[in-house]
Amino acid sequence: MDEFAIDVKQLDKTFGQVPALRGVSLQVRRGEMVALLGASGSGKSTLLRHLNGLHCADAGSPSSVAVLGRRVQAGGRLARDIRATRSKVAVVFQQFNLVARLPVMTNIMAGALHRLPLWRGLLRRFPAAELARAQEAMARVGIARLAAQRASTLSGGQQQRAAISRALVQGAEIILADEPIASLDPEASRKVMQSLADVNRDLGVTVLVSLHQVDFAFAFCPRTIALHDGRVVFDGPTRALTPDRLRELYGAQVGELLPAQATTHPTAWPTAAPEYADVALRVA
Ligand code: ADP
Ligand code: MG
Repeated sequence: MDEFAIDVKQLDKTFGQVPALRGVSLQVRRGEMVALLGASGSGKSTLLRHLNGLHCADAGSPSSVAVLGRRVQAGGRLARDIRATRSKVAVVFQQFNLVARLPVMTNIMAGALHRLPLWRGLLRRFPAAELARAQEAMARVGIARLAAQRASTLSGGQQQRAAISRALVQGAEIILADEPIASLDPEASRKVMQSLADVNRDLGVTVLVSLHQVDFAFAFCPRTIALHDGRVVFDGPTRALTPDRLRELYGAQVGELLPAQATTHPTAWPTAAPEYADVALRVA
């Protein structure tokens, strides 16, 4: 199939007087893992929310969004069959959106509810095949042994990996991750990004992940789309985003995008870090 996983054309979105997206066009092929880079307020969340129809573009604009070959919206109107499309698209948020008091397994099974009879969800009696699928999804991201724990007992990084498992149980063909590592320490961030990279490589899930720091884009995403003030200012190989190029694109905001040490010690740029060496090779 050669249709795009994500196909966005001339997306315009204004909140009151504030233009949040201006003529954004982008295409992502099936099986790609792409970083959506931008400083705070550049329009990343707004763009991601248009992809599954949580936001509608400006009425009467030439905007259109299609996902997996199906129309999501056009001219500021949602498609009627949006529900069917949404089941193929999972969202992972910065704020860990698990139900804290429920076990991890129950949270992950929520991904399967859209294809099960209502009573099964209400009584939490799930078919064995579905439970096995959830176990496999948890094992894939390294949290199988946490299945029975309450979600509230997991670290932030484990919760994000649980959210990725839930996306797999849902049967998502696309994962939209909105700053999934913004609240995590570097080691937890690396594990979450590695889990996204694994499901991308092993299962062919298309991943679009928004980030406000370029180092993780560099390590995990061959391609980056960069937003600034609601416009696409760069779309190409992540390795082309040198500190100088970023300074050109972002001016004074560049500090937000660079890892702390890279601004003062250019030799500490991510490719030089040993923990990125193997990933950089794979990405190259
Ligand atoms: P990012 O996710 O890159 O930080 P956002 O997409 O959240 O950026 O925001 C882009 C712009 O749109 C910002 O100026 C923000 O203040 C504005 N914006 C986002 N959501 C809303 C909203 N619901 N109402 C009004 N303004 C909004
Ligand atoms: Mg955001």
